[in-house]
Amino acid sequence: MHQLITDLYPICRSITGDGVRQTLAYLQRHLPLQIREVPSGTPAFDWTVPQEWNISDAWIKNSRGERVVDFRQSNLHVLNYSTPIRRKLSLTELRPHLFSLPEQPDRIPYRTSYYQANWGFCLPHRQLLELEEGEYEVCIDSTLEPGHLSYGELFLPGAADEEVLISCHICHPSLANDNLSGIAVAAMLAQHLGQQERRYGYRFLFIPGTIGAIVWLSRNQATAQRIKHGLVLTCVGDPSPFTYKKSRRGNATIDRAVACVLGQGGYAHQLEEFTPYGYDERQFCSPGFNLPVGCLMRAVHGRFAEYHTSADNLAFVQPAALTETLKLLTEVCGLLEADQRYVNTNPNCEPQLGKRGLYRPIGGQMDAKGYQMALLWMLNMSDGEHSLLDIAERSGLPWATLAAATTALREVGLLVPREEEHSA
Ligand code: ZN
Repeated sequence: MHQLITDLYPICRSITGDGVRQTLAYLQRHLPLQIREVPSGTPAFDWTVPQEWNISDAWIKNSRGERVVDFRQSNLHVLNYSTPIRRKLSLTELRPHLFSLPEQPDRIPYRTSYYQANWGFCLPHRQLLELEEGEYEVCIDSTLEPGHLSYGELFLPGAADEEVLISCHICHPSLANDNLSGIAVAAMLAQHLGQQERRYGYRFLFIPGTIGAIVWLSRNQATAQRIKHGLVLTCVGDPSPFTYKKSRRGNATIDRAVACVLGQGGYAHQLEEFTPYGYDERQFCSPGFNLPVGCLMRAVHGRFAEYHTSADNLAFVQPAALTETLKLLTEVCGLLEADQRYVNTNPNCEPQLGKRGLYRPIGGQMDAKGYQMALLWMLNMSDGEHSLLDIAERSGLPWATLAAATTALREVGLLVPREEEHSA
């Protein structure tokens, strides 16, 4: 995952343009990703797909012709979506177009101007203070023309029509945690789930933030109704504890499943309530959809010093943190897959487990007492009304132990999924 981030880090991405296409083409080498192209001007609810932005070079030269700010050194140096310009001007005329962070004077800020035509440069505040009076020449060799908005979509079908959504944004240029970490973890999760048997279908979206989610929802209103659980992944590669922001519903299965896995797995974490700010959960949880989609993060946008600066770089994301995030997500998906309602086929008093060979630990791996308790809890609560997650919450037993007990009880016919019983 860190290699993937390293490979994609230099690309100048935006909400449209060739940077996004290069990123999606790279992912296509690892995943059977569909790339969708939506023309500029296409309406999407209250929005319209903007003109496509591309950039090849940008610089500020001083009176001696030296590049004092150079896009080739860092793509963060350009106000993202800058309109093209080439002219000479004084430092006074240039200043309104320069952006810096006085409180973090050595870092380049990341700034955008997608929906208001503007041009500008971002630079370390220390460098801004050192600019001499005099004449400068600025060049932004960009194009803003009718084109397309590009996004990637990957669907792994499951046995059921119901779907799990995993979404990440792909619109930030050289920023590692905010954008690339989510892309890397989502890509590896897709590879992992692609090799598993699946009850749910899994839909992965690699989309430009905000406009990409709005475009996808506007084109997929029927599909959206099949989404039973969803997660937006962002800032998941730094070593901070996990932060899970709940869906607008607040008590959706995904909210409870993530909380269960975080708590039972002993992961350092905090849970936060939904707010209509942040990433694309804002769109998925807009009232017309109100999808059960939460947001998984480690560091939280706006609350870490590296956020939207050149310090959100390859050193800020760590392989161990990425691996831990992937492990957490495979466990969450494992719990969602296991979280069914069952019916005890022998509900009149306890069935005799010994004669069915169930009074023994499996593989010697699992805690024997916990496993016995899991058998009893699953049998007792499986009246068709309680799901495995309900039983995990009520019993306090590890969900994976309950899942293992469920497998054993199904093998001897003591539990059947509620749906199967109804159709039988
Ligand atoms: Zn961001």
